[in-house]
Amino acid sequence: MISDTITAISTAVGEAGIAVIRVSGPDAVSETEKIFRSKTPLTQAASHTVHYGHIIDPGTGEKIEEVLVTVMRAPRSFTTEDVVEISAHGGVVSVKRVMDLLLQLDIRLAEPGEFTKRAFLNGRIDLSQAEGVMDLIRSKSDRAFSVALKQVEGKLSSKLRELRYTLVETLAHIEVNIDYPEHDVESLTSEFIKEKSSQVMTEIDKLLVTAEQGKILREGITTAIVGRPNVGKSSLLNTLAQDNRAIVTDIPGTTRDVIEEFVTINNIPLKLLDTAGIRETMDVVERIGVERSRSAVNEADLLLMVINAAEPLHQDEIELLEQIRGRQSIIIMNKMDLAPQADREVLLRYIPEERLVPMSVKDDFGVDRLEDAISTLFFSGKLESADLTYVSNVRHIALLKKAKQSLIDAYEAAEQLIPIDMIQIDVRLAWEQLGEIVGDTAHDALIDQIFSQFCLGK
Ligand code: GDP
Ligand code: ZN
Repeated sequence: MISDTITAISTAVGEAGIAVIRVSGPDAVSETEKIFRSKTPLTQAASHTVHYGHIIDPGTGEKIEEVLVTVMRAPRSFTTEDVVEISAHGGVVSVKRVMDLLLQLDIRLAEPGEFTKRAFLNGRIDLSQAEGVMDLIRSKSDRAFSVALKQVEGKLSSKLRELRYTLVETLAHIEVNIDYPEHDVESLTSEFIKEKSSQVMTEIDKLLVTAEQGKILREGITTAIVGRPNVGKSSLLNTLAQDNRAIVTDIPGTTRDVIEEFVTINNIPLKLLDTAGIRETMDVVERIGVERSRSAVNEADLLLMVINAAEPLHQDEIELLEQIRGRQSIIIMNKMDLAPQADREVLLRYIPEERLVPMSVKDDFGVDRLEDAISTLFFSGKLESADLTYVSNVRHIALLKKAKQSLIDAYEAAEQLIPIDMIQIDVRLAWEQLGEIVGDTAHDALIDQIFSQFCLGK
């Protein structure tokens, strides 16, 4: 049973015009009242009402801040506890003074993620929903945001509940058989186990297929822009970043370093890496750049190879084309505003036509085609499947894979007519592993670890 009251700033300080300080716990209302003056005393305020007033230093009687205070009484709040939210004007100094006053009361500073943790512990949300909240805070693209939102809304949870129900059903069936172990019942039970476990496996596979997309949505497709010097790599990066910039992470350095930009194209987040020209060199500084660009190429999910179409293909470029054969790649024939020289027919030996994009970064020509090629490559058309249940969390993916393996074990054991009570162990394991995703069988340490990843105040 949770007995203490916690507080934290719930909006980013300094960013918003208003800062919200959240207080949650059994003493949230009575403690906050000690530093708040308004027409209605807070302890008499009805649930879900907003009150205008002032935060007062109880020691000196000084007015610290003009605020709006919202009262939400248990259990109708995010944490299911009594919650008070203080909206202040958000100057860093005054918000800090309000926090200092709260912390002098019988209220302690919340740990990161502690509000969400309480919501979970009090049964308000399940673990996958809680992780969804965390993903919402971190999501870098609109699409990633809506996936995280779905998770918060419990889409994944209800799917998992359905699968676990099937497994419980199977366990019940096995239980009956153990009590009445006549031979024909036994073989019927084996059939039943095989049917049910493959049914659940199929559903797990569907979830896992979406997992790869989910990971991409969260982290961005690592995209390396490669090619010889002066073909227009940096110009392309700048153009894509200008139109689509989301979060910018400039790694300081010259063009010989790898520059990173986070952009979203048709809602697909890309982590773009501009690399130094790939070619052998004796220049030490440049060689470091080249080595970095080699590893960038190896790690990339997608390669954008830029060539200067106004020149004949260079031997280095043929070598690079050989190197990237079989990789997810798009070739950009840049500088099409000049007289074309590069041999299209040669390029088409390495890449299908829809992934050969004529462009002029200078004239802003061809950008649309490039963007379409990128989305076609990854999602066979624009990503429209917004109502899919995405699995995008590494912990969820690992558990789904474990559960699938347990079911494979159960299936194979049933096929070999291994004693039913042995098979029961595997089915039960799968049930537990799926349960761990939503937190039904999660251990305390795991719960702490997950919630400590939250931002403070969530
Ligand atoms: P990088 O070395 O591959 O990064 O190439 P840059 O982006 O630095 O570009 C090299 C030169 O090519 C610069 O002078 C650009 O202005 C020029 N450039 C880039 N794109 C185009 C284009 O589409 N057409 C023309 N004519 N020049 C371009
Ligand atoms: Zn460059």
